[in-house]
Amino acid sequence: MKIGVYPGSFDPVTNGHLDILERASKLFDQVIVAVIHNPQKKGFFSIEERVALLEEVTRHIPKVTVDSFTGLLMDYVVSKKAQAVIRGLRAVSDFDYEMQMALMNNKLCPSVETIFIISCPQYIYLSSTKIKEVAILGGSINGLVPKHVEQKLIDKIRNTNKG
Ligand code: ADP
Repeated sequence: MKIGVYPGSFDPVTNGHLDILERASKLFDQVIVAVIHNPQKKGFFSIEERVALLEEVTRHIPKVTVDSFTGLLMDYVVSKKAQAVIRGLRAVSDFDYEMQMALMNNKLCPSVETIFIISCPQYIYLSSTKIKEVAILGGSINGLVPKHVEQKLIDKIRNTNKG
């Protein structure tokens, strides 16, 4: 059984993430999307909300399961008996960071490979951070995140502005 772990903040999941997931699920028997819980970082959506959004929008990909974790990624990957970490690559700017991380993870756990999937051109500029910036300022994010995520973002921004 080939298992891949796709780690990230997914705050929130975008169509760029979904594209990587759909393509990764063709290479593995199971793909675990793992939301990184860093207690030092306060996200826009809570970890529970991010997991719920991911569960909702990956329903159509039966090989995908959603989880969250704290601590060292490699400890988590080994605990799940996974063989690979999956990462998406957008621009050259992602490369430096990703290479450092992949090499460090390889040092910690040489039996686990990091697999990179290049973003499809239409989502190359897309990040959760940009999505939030645009949505908070009232711009359209139509077509960049699933409809369900778009609605939750709008609701959250409305509630934050009320409070
Ligand atoms: P971000 O906040 O930048 O969206 P995440 O930590 O949520 O980043 O991303 C998790 C993984 O998904 C990373 O490997 C990241 O490079 C990748 N990723 C993020 N956005 C895209 C995209 N638009 N296309 C391809 N891969 C992406």
